[in-house]
Amino acid sequence: MGHNTGGLPSNLLITGASQLLTLRGRVPRHGKALSDLGIVKNGAVLIRDGVIAAVGTRAEIELLPEARAAEKLDVGGRVVLPGFVDSHTHLIHAASRAEEYELKIAGASYEEIARKGGGILTSVKKLRAATAEVLKKRAHAALGEFAAHGTTTLEAKSGYGLDVASELKILRLHRELNREQPLEIVSTFLGAHVVPAEYRNKPGGAERYVALLTERLIPEVAAEKLAEFCDVFCDRGAFSRKESKKILQAGKKNGLLPRIHAEQLTRTGATQMAVQLGAASCDHLEQVNKADIQALGKSKTVATLLPGCDFHLGLKKYAPARELIGAGATVALATDYNPGTSPTMSMPMILSLACTQLRMTPAEAIAAATINAACSVLRDHKIGSLDAGKQADIAIFDVVDYREIPYYFGVNKCWMTLKKGRPVFHKAHT
Ligand SMILES: [Zn+2]
Repeated sequence: MGHNTGGLPSNLLITGASQLLTLRGRVPRHGKALSDLGIVKNGAVLIRDGVIAAVGTRAEIELLPEARAAEKLDVGGRVVLPGFVDSHTHLIHAASRAEEYELKIAGASYEEIARKGGGILTSVKKLRAATAEVLKKRAHAALGEFAAHGTTTLEAKSGYGLDVASELKILRLHRELNREQPLEIVSTFLGAHVVPAEYRNKPGGAERYVALLTERLIPEVAAEKLAEFCDVFCDRGAFSRKESKKILQAGKKNGLLPRIHAEQLTRTGATQMAVQLGAASCDHLEQVNKADIQALGKSKTVATLLPGCDFHLGLKKYAPARELIGAGATVALATDYNPGTSPTMSMPMILSLACTQLRMTPAEAIAAATINAACSVLRDHKIGSLDAGKQADIAIFDVVDYREIPYYFGVNKCWMTLKKGRPVFHKAHT
């Protein structure tokens, strides 16, 4: 069974889990509660028409009359948990940037490569030249990989188009992909990724590009309902805090909720600005200071950490996850799947990095990648935990202890992924 396969009927009883991680309880998870996975030993899940009908011990669930009539899936002592919510990806792009990989290894920084016309601008050139069909084919293959690593919902940003036609092309692909394959895609408009080449080094160029975003593209994206969120890359070499605020406010005015790339390469003060605007999420945060951490701790804005970037770029400074958790921030984890800084679709790999580099515990990392990430895309009422009434979005790992999910790295231990109760991935012959 591969990606996008159906098979199991509408009523399904899952049993035989060595550990069932329900993630039930407090939403979002802060501080000590971040470690609470709501584990049920020898647990069972009853699914009706793609929705979780009941969760509990095997003995409790098997007593239900409906459970007796349901199709059975015995997972043979594996670990069952909510499907991962990958709350930060750049799904649509035309090609990898493998040509930059050796430059990076030799010591060229991300910003040096960008200054020489590489980086994001290379991806923009390739995306503009690519047809929607080619982009879609690449995205379909990537979505198969996401599913194969236990992800059931992902946020996806535009941002490699940077002109009206190309940005709309990407966002329309998000919509088409949502219809054509089982994983749910949450669409974000990131026209403010960088200032495109044709506006650079021209008097008032950046200003004119910001005006194109705020006066033309954002209203058009909102009118066509092509995105739920508006994002900005606020950093050196991208957009200033002042420009970012203007763009996020224009988004908000048009019904697109703010999220932001903040304090990745340098500290700009983007975090506190975005918190004041009520952003759903501040992402990256490698360079945050104490005041930023406190502001996140007091806010509802999710702090989304992307350790895959630092790993791929070979950087030593990861986001201060322990301080953020200590301050009470809602910490989430995501892949930041993109061709320049984080070419991975694997949430388990991100969990491994969260444990070894961010010093999060396996339990904290799992909560950050499920229920807290669901909060960041405003879907905690229907995904992120295994609760009656929520979508039956489930990942099953071929391990007996949840700690083995991040413990193994560089190998895929995901055994089966279900979206709305239907298998979208099943590892064959295990
Ligand atoms: Zn990103």
